[in-house]
Amino acid sequence: ARKAALSTSTGPGATSDGHKMPLLANIGGPGDVPAAVEVGAEGVGLFRTEFLFLDDSKQAPSEEKQITAYRAVLEAFPEGRVVVRVLDAGADKPLDFLTPADEPNPALGVRGLRSLLDHPDVLRTQLTALSKAAAGLPVYLEVMAPMVADRADAKAFADACRAAGLRAKFGAMVEIPSAALRARSVLQEVEFLSLGTNDLAQYTFAADRQVGAVSRLQDPWQPALLDLVAMSADAAKAEGKSCGVCGEAASDPLLACVLTGLGVTSLSMGAASIPYVRTTLAKYTLAQCERAASAARAADSAEDARVAAQAVLSGE
Ligand code: PEP
Ligand code: MG
Repeated sequence: ARKAALSTSTGPGATSDGHKMPLLANIGGPGDVPAAVEVGAEGVGLFRTEFLFLDDSKQAPSEEKQITAYRAVLEAFPEGRVVVRVLDAGADKPLDFLTPADEPNPALGVRGLRSLLDHPDVLRTQLTALSKAAAGLPVYLEVMAPMVADRADAKAFADACRAAGLRAKFGAMVEIPSAALRARSVLQEVEFLSLGTNDLAQYTFAADRQVGAVSRLQDPWQPALLDLVAMSADAAKAEGKSCGVCGEAASDPLLACVLTGLGVTSLSMGAASIPYVRTTLAKYTLAQCERAASAARAADSAEDARVAAQAVLSGE
């Protein structure tokens, strides 16, 4: 047992029967890389590039400054996978030069990809910097857009990536229910999906993620949220493409097993959670994870979903 515990505390993520589930790290910049490397992250599943833009809310950082930061992250994962999210400004992360000041509902306004499409120069500089940062490195770069609502958004982002000459896979985050409902349509334009379950819960339940009074509805075990995850994963499978999770949901070890059972293809989380998720996942077969996922989806509340999944996995 001791040997088994040791062998699962490092190495690639997988179920007990060998179904691979890459465990990736969520980072905010080069400073978060050592912790990710230490726990054996298989790459980065969400590089939130906002941090680079927060020093100065009057203007975007120069291309040179961006190249330096991106290169520091890319160099840390030779042969690994790094998924960079382009700037996600607006709502809880306003930037003076991008975010409209007079929106009555900023979370429903011009944020994420919408602000970048309104400021193509900012997007172009970021994509060019990424392209130059990755040049000559063996890393497997993927770039994704936040807040993609539909196929037109996905196409606009993919067009901008191509125009910048970026050699990477282009992806769309699924954080708006419309993108999950029409995931196959979105996938006509991009090569992968990544579920941002924090915003997806916020928009599915009309519950502001910053308002504690509605936190019950932000619970990622909500069966309606699990349905949207399943819908996205099924669409990706049908299209032969990948669908990861990079929201908080992935960091709950039990929920990570359920997400695996729903068919997601990678899990990205804060580095500190990786060892727990790796150890828990290694205890169960894929079939057990699938049964836990079905039981959770059959429940009528987040609490019941958690209890049902736990019961399946503990063999009750
Ligand atoms: C999310 O919404 O789940 C997500 C990963 O992005 P962020 O938390 O940065 O909005
Ligand atoms: Mg988000």
